[in-house]
Amino acid sequence: MLKLNHLNYYRLPWNLTDNAISWLEPTAKCNLYCDGCYRKNENSHKSMEVVNQELDVFTSLRKCDGVSIAGGDPLTHPDIIDIVKSVKERGLKPIINTNGLALTKELLKELKKAGVYGFTFHIDSKQTRPHWKGKNELELNELRYYYASMLAEAKNISCAFNSTVYEDTMHYVPELAKWAQQNIDKVQVMVFILYRAVNNEKVDFYLGPKKIDMGELVYNEDVEERTDIQADEIVELIRTQDPDFDPCAYLNGSEKPDSFKWLLTGRLGNKKKIYGYMGKKSMEIIQTMHHVLYDRYLAYSAPKMTKNGKSMLLLSPFDKGLRKTFVNYLKNPLNIFKRLHYQSVMIIQPVDFLEDGRQNMCDGCPDITVWNGKLVWSCRMEEQLKYGHNIKSYPKNFMN
Ligand code: SF4
Repeated sequence: MLKLNHLNYYRLPWNLTDNAISWLEPTAKCNLYCDGCYRKNENSHKSMEVVNQELDVFTSLRKCDGVSIAGGDPLTHPDIIDIVKSVKERGLKPIINTNGLALTKELLKELKKAGVYGFTFHIDSKQTRPHWKGKNELELNELRYYYASMLAEAKNISCAFNSTVYEDTMHYVPELAKWAQQNIDKVQVMVFILYRAVNNEKVDFYLGPKKIDMGELVYNEDVEERTDIQADEIVELIRTQDPDFDPCAYLNGSEKPDSFKWLLTGRLGNKKKIYGYMGKKSMEIIQTMHHVLYDRYLAYSAPKMTKNGKSMLLLSPFDKGLRKTFVNYLKNPLNIFKRLHYQSVMIIQPVDFLEDGRQNMCDGCPDITVWNGKLVWSCRMEEQLKYGHNIKSYPKNFMN
């Protein structure tokens, strides 16, 4: 199996107090039931007062560029317009993470007026979506295209897609990456989230001295499919179709430095062709310059910026990847009159259980949320809600 060397890539500078993103959960209610969801679907809309308090906690403890408004599905919240406004009024980019089911053109218009910066649509084949049951990942591209076109029509709203990757769907990843490239004018980010579940075979869970039955939580357990797919494997898979595919930046694991928890690839091209990939230096320059100018690291970019990929070629003197891109691009000098788009491909590898029982989290977690005035991992919120703490894991029968 391919093993990428993390030292060859740029370590994104994101950390607990200075990050690109924060994660707001105004509700746990959802209008779908997806496999792999780590939140209990319940009618729990937070009031605007609580939402504002949580935003205040973010702004007092953590710099960030964008706020992922997530859930549950945030479009089920009756005050979603005010929530977007409130994020925007704080000078942050409101990004709605949704399955899209409740999004209409009228609602989109209102959200745009309120200041929405982007959407991340979660679409995959294990969502029991009405009218799309039994469709595979590639058949769902029609639905992805519908939402991408809706945003393109509304103009200058960033469009991202999340897809959870399972053992039996991972072979679709190269085709999904290709679909994203073929729609590079409409899709700014493609995210692959590797499926995870509780690993009862490897570890036991404890709250202090008390052993915890993980069945008490909504996290899936005792699943038969793989829960240890690695980001490197996904890169290897994509390379079967696109041998030049190469990431530029990453977040490592909190316990395992050479694991890739967020693995970012930046590519430049058009609907027909990718001319090349950003290298580590250009990502370092972009993140650093954004911080120098705006005092925060960059999260999402609007379509009016990503469609101007040619300006990124100005960084090619500093970056091997972009120099190669520049040469490829100018092989046909007429290209200079054509658009060059930028697109990100992110691979997210959530919690891993190590041999010694430790849980390897994302070091510099961007999806940190607020609970009881504290910053906590959003992927492990159910533990906070049930026990008021994160539970610890140890190798099987370690305490006997
Ligand atoms: S630690 Fe959990 S919440 Fe944070 S980025 Fe990783 S998977 Fe997401």
